Amino acid sequence: MVHIMHKSRLVSLLLLSLVLSLLLSGCEQQNSHEVNVYSARKEALIKPALDRFQTETGIKVNLVTGNADALIERLKAEGVASPADVLITVDAGRLHRAKSLQLTQAVDSEQLQTLIPAAYRDPEGHWFGLSLRARPIMYAKDRVNPADLSTYADLADETWRGRVCIRSSSNIYNQSLVASMVASDGVDAVEQWAAGLVKNFARKPVGGDRDQIKALAAGVCDVAVANTYYLFGMLSSENDAEVKAAEQVQVFWPNQQGRGTHVNISGIALTQSAKNPDNAVQLMEFLLNEESQSWYANVNGEYPIRDNTVVHPTLAGWGQFKKDAINLAELGKLGPEAVKIMDRVEWP
Ligand code: FE
Repeated sequence: MVHIMHKSRLVSLLLLSLVLSLLLSGCEQQNSHEVNVYSARKEALIKPALDRFQTETGIKVNLVTGNADALIERLKAEGVASPADVLITVDAGRLHRAKSLQLTQAVDSEQLQTLIPAAYRDPEGHWFGLSLRARPIMYAKDRVNPADLSTYADLADETWRGRVCIRSSSNIYNQSLVASMVASDGVDAVEQWAAGLVKNFARKPVGGDRDQIKALAAGVCDVAVANTYYLFGMLSSENDAEVKAAEQVQVFWPNQQGRGTHVNISGIALTQSAKNPDNAVQLMEFLLNEESQSWYANVNGEYPIRDNTVVHPTLAGWGQFKKDAINLAELGKLGPEAVKIMDRVEWP
């Protein structure tokens, strides 16, 4: 009797495992034709490239877009059960945060390593730059002689008292910029600088980069710090007022005699939970191909991450510039220190 029961249990176990393996192979088959993307980029800034990938490879792309910090929170909450295969987001500081929270995993791709300069990818392969954004000084053409501009550090000089617009310290672009200064000048010098900069504010920081450019055009301030793609966006806007405002503003590349202008990236990471890692890596490599890269330069108003890719005429018009060569992973590490400095000097 015991023997018979044992036998029937064995049969049902075998049946169960058969059913399970069928189910799993079914899943694998389904998964092998898709890749799940969590993107902090607006749909218009990433979907055309994802659509091309889907058409060319037959791999279905499922896109979830959302706020950058919310997506990281979501990955954290979902844990290993997350459907996401890749995270696309902006700023190395954020990519570093995702890595620190163990939401990413290393990718070993010779193609990615060859195409992306070392400064714009994680040394351990946890994230890779897709596009480059520059954060220079901008000035009002009619009120500022560019010969009077030189470095970020110089913006703390009293010549600029009440003349500087820059957004709040809670913004990661500013945190990464200040982190780059800490890497180069040390905490004490940067704290002194930041205190001087705050004294020079034309107003309490309000709005995003685009609002700083508008304030500059409106005469609220004479110089501002902002990412260039916002100026590009205003220049190519359908709103005449935005175009007119942008036309009063010019780009100045700071720190050209020294370490170069601060740059950052939009980037991509393979998630810790990825169920379709091969498709994910294929997508990463696709976004680095020549066509995707020149698309970034021409549509997004950003710079390609690869050297020698042709940029949009508007960007070309701002001229070539020396970029800070620091590995962006360093900025991620120094981000918290930068935040403390900005808090101490009461940069709102
Ligand atoms: Fe932005």
